[in-house]
Amino acid sequence: MSIDYSDMAFPKKPWKQKESKKTPWKQKKKPVKKTAPAKKRKKRRYKKVPSIMQDKDDKRCYLCMLLEDNYRIHSYTEEHHVLFGDTKWISDAYGLRVNLCVEHHRAGRDAVHNNNKIAKLLMKIAQRKFTETYPELEWMKIVQENYL
Ligand SMILES: [Zn+2]
Ligand SMILES: [Zn+2]
Repeated sequence: MSIDYSDMAFPKKPWKQKESKKTPWKQKKKPVKKTAPAKKRKKRRYKKVPSIMQDKDDKRCYLCMLLEDNYRIHSYTEEHHVLFGDTKWISDAYGLRVNLCVEHHRAGRDAVHNNNKIAKLLMKIAQRKFTETYPELEWMKIVQENYL
């Protein structure tokens, strides 16, 4: 049997509603943890040492010389980190950098940033040079990738 409260001056509903207002969902929300280990690693500062591959003031393009036997001096070259991305710090810390013309750095078909083969070729040379220059260090321990 149901009772119709709608005509009563003080309907029973309000109290019950008050209790159910304690909604737990607000407290249950977990704070989102920001996990950014990659960024943290990048923040570590390494001293930039001079390049062991090419003098910084050499205005010839490393790839013009290597791929085309072209030793001309460019009015403008860009410094390329042979290991880049997450491992860019290694290029700074151990001097694995070369000077490139714009075509070979980022504009042309054979640009190191457009052509993975060329990028890997430079890494291979860098690994050899590294092993020669730092016989006391282990490339694999630092770079963790073999390009030879
Ligand atoms: Zn070039
Ligand atoms: Zn570059």
